[in-house]
Amino acid sequence: MTTTPTAYIGQAVADLRWLTTVPHTIDHCVKLRARQIAAERTRWAYGTSPTKMAEDITDSAWGTGQHADPTGDGFGRRHDDDAHETMASIRHAADLVRSSAIDAHHHAARLLEVEPRAPHPSHGLMATLNEAEVMLIVLRDRIIPNDPDDPDVRSSAITVLADNPHMMWLLRSAVGETTSWLRATCEAAFDAASGPERDAVPGRKPDECKLCGAWRKGTVATSRGRCEQCATFQDHHKCKPTEAIVRRWEATGTSSTPPGMILEAKAQGRKRVRSA
Ligand SMILES: [Zn+2]
Repeated sequence: MTTTPTAYIGQAVADLRWLTTVPHTIDHCVKLRARQIAAERTRWAYGTSPTKMAEDITDSAWGTGQHADPTGDGFGRRHDDDAHETMASIRHAADLVRSSAIDAHHHAARLLEVEPRAPHPSHGLMATLNEAEVMLIVLRDRIIPNDPDDPDVRSSAITVLADNPHMMWLLRSAVGETTSWLRATCEAAFDAASGPERDAVPGRKPDECKLCGAWRKGTVATSRGRCEQCATFQDHHKCKPTEAIVRRWEATGTSSTPPGMILEAKAQGRKRVRSA
């Protein structure tokens, strides 16, 4: 079975969206995982016999060492190392997803001779994953030509990408497998947490797009308060997208806009200026 470049992108975007959606944002899952590791340290009830503790230690992966330290102190240290390792792996995976999404985006732009989007600097786990998602969406909807009147152009561009082994490796492995590991890790932490702790609303949600946020859910403001799609539209046509345009984007899953709708959007923009 062959999986197309766009199918890999679609799966990665779905995983990234899970990881950036309340209540299971990556930030929240990391916090849950840290608490779970801390709780494992103190799983012996008061009064547990030293024999039982020694058995537990021997049973743990740590206990496989030759010079096992039979004290609870050593056991605790090992769990701190686990915590460090888990958090470092999550951070590393998030950075890898972002840099691989940027690589894939640029590699596809080179193959298809299209101007790539410059990546934005991102700090923190959420911003890192949001940026990866944006790079993948722009790759899927703009770097790969997307004209509904000429679907052949799109399918031949997809063939060019599918025939390039490095391109496919980036999408399948560097982006795809890393994102799915990240989601599985966070999902396990989320599922293992108990009700109220799990459902506590984590920090601030990312800002919604100020142009289209009223008409659809889950937008992320990435450029002066605008989502990627609205920013592209406004920069290109010098007017704001109308509700009809945004609804059409949503319905078709593309960024295509018929010329008539663009004229209407420009006219509405002029009306707004006059009435102001
Ligand atoms: Zn928008």
